[in-house]
Amino acid sequence: MIKQAVIVAGGLGSRFGNRTKEMPKGFIEIDGVPMVERSVQKLIASGIEEIIIGTGHCSEYYDELAKKYHIIKTVRNDNYANTSSMGTLAVCAPLIKGDFILLESDLIYDSVGLKVLINDERKNVILASGKSNSHDEVYLAANADGVLNEVSKDKKIIPEPAGELVGITKISKSCLDKMMKYYKSDSSLIKLDYENALKHVSTEMEEPVYVHKIEYYAWTEIDDESMLERAVTQIWPRIQENESLWNVRREVLLNPGPSTTTDSVKYAQVVADICPRELEFGNLMEEVATGLTEVCADPKDYISVMFGCSGTGADEAMVSSCVPPDGKLLVVDNGSYGARLAKIASVYNIDMDVFKSSTYEPIDLKALENQMKSKKYTTFAIVYHETTTGLLNDLATICPMAKKYGMTTICDIVSAYGGMPIDLGKLQIDFATSTSNKHIGGMAGVGFVVCRKSELLKQKDWPMRNYYLNIYDQYKYFLETKQTRFTPPVQTFYALRQAIIETKVETVEKRFERFTACWEILVKALDEIGLKMLVDRKYQSHFITAILIPETPKYSFNDLHDYAKSFGFTIYPGKLGNIDTFRIANMGDIKPEEMTHFTCVLRDYMHSIGVC
Ligand SMILES: *Cc1c(COP(=O)(O)O)cnc(C)c1O
Repeated sequence: MIKQAVIVAGGLGSRFGNRTKEMPKGFIEIDGVPMVERSVQKLIASGIEEIIIGTGHCSEYYDELAKKYHIIKTVRNDNYANTSSMGTLAVCAPLIKGDFILLESDLIYDSVGLKVLINDERKNVILASGKSNSHDEVYLAANADGVLNEVSKDKKIIPEPAGELVGITKISKSCLDKMMKYYKSDSSLIKLDYENALKHVSTEMEEPVYVHKIEYYAWTEIDDESMLERAVTQIWPRIQENESLWNVRREVLLNPGPSTTTDSVKYAQVVADICPRELEFGNLMEEVATGLTEVCADPKDYISVMFGCSGTGADEAMVSSCVPPDGKLLVVDNGSYGARLAKIASVYNIDMDVFKSSTYEPIDLKALENQMKSKKYTTFAIVYHETTTGLLNDLATICPMAKKYGMTTICDIVSAYGGMPIDLGKLQIDFATSTSNKHIGGMAGVGFVVCRKSELLKQKDWPMRNYYLNIYDQYKYFLETKQTRFTPPVQTFYALRQAIIETKVETVEKRFERFTACWEILVKALDEIGLKMLVDRKYQSHFITAILIPETPKYSFNDLHDYAKSFGFTIYPGKLGNIDTFRIANMGDIKPEEMTHFTCVLRDYMHSIGVC
């Protein structure tokens, strides 16, 4: 799996004259976005986790970009004026850990080129196109097997080219090592280009580099004003059209999970078949587990144990695994999900008391502490965010209180995880559950329990109360084999990997701000329409808003649902005892402008039944 990309961006861009005197060429904007930034976005969407940019001329621009996308690392080629692209690649080399994609900085391109290289089974592949007529062509020659054997701008040297160099190449670590060896072998090579280093490796060092040509590939390099003009008027429209053909019809899910996913997460599932007992897949699961832990805890102290199941599966794994054989559980029930935890415990015949609390008002902490004080309990279970109502329980106070009375804390944080900053260590939570398909933004199918290692190890000799869902058994088997005991949802894991990358790029803090912005748009509209919310806004999570249905008999959830659906919005009903609500979620890939659109749809419907 390719995880790194390197962009060589040391060049002076002197053919642009004044325009690039004080700015690197990669920052020239096409349709409002700097070329190199768009390239970074395409790399992220293709599953690249880390981007190394070799800089030189005006390197501070790239350092600024790295602040916006913290998966970027910059390395400066101090000798950029006297070296060429191989010199810049050489300063990046120490950071390159495996196979990678190498790109030039002054490119616009159809992202299908990245897909093609990533999917090519060969290790070293240089992307080529048919005739570009750009007047700045670099021609590639190849032998009958497609192996690169010449690079030149001179058509006389390559009368029948295998294609034109695009500036995007897949390179293996061993190929890079050979390029470096060659580059360092002779000081007269100081101005070597990376493509000539590739040619040398391919023809002289037994490391074949293959030319992969896409005849009608939409791309261009931009070296001067006339190329820029051509890029804007001819190439960019083609790239946009080609890429738009991949768009998946947009449906905005306002139901409380599964949530709206990005197209890049959807496409991440389309991968080569693989047996999940292969080490390659074991490594993927291990990285996903670490990524999941990092979202809410310190991986030094916590570990994620994953199952093929929904969020309730993770809840069941936690409740049925984490209460000691002779233990007693205290469960807080202030909504459907708290009730579900209690139900699971009762199915497993776990000794338990239920602390009932209002579904829309904060928990009475004194009363809860009194119950804890009896010291009858080994284990304490609670839901962080009650998705039924949007009520956020005050775990920062409640969990430390439970710890004070010697309990192990097991929490359903399913619909808070990934949506707001959470630190399990600080909150004193020992076990926490979530799922791949809520705020983290993946596909349904992976449920997981983030476990405090020291607490998990205590379960070592406990008799098993469950089988498929046993956390310790799953943990131990994975530790020893890098395999899950039973078939995992393979493609869901690839999507989850992509969702974790996108979460890291956005950051959980920014994600919470985005959800809050959407929630504020919704709440303002509700005020204007005259609809009331079930929970006082100061106790709301910003992830779910339970809205009381209007009193008129003309209201019909089904009508509202169908009307919203006709605009691409899916909403969800909610009944709490005899209180009727409908619920609007802010989860996943929802944008504030989409929430604004939804509020217009809602207003129209409410107007049609005389509410406003
Ligand atoms: C969504 C959710 C779950 C899990 O529901 P599934 O349908 O099993 O994925 C559990 N707890 C809470 C609080 C939830 O919001």
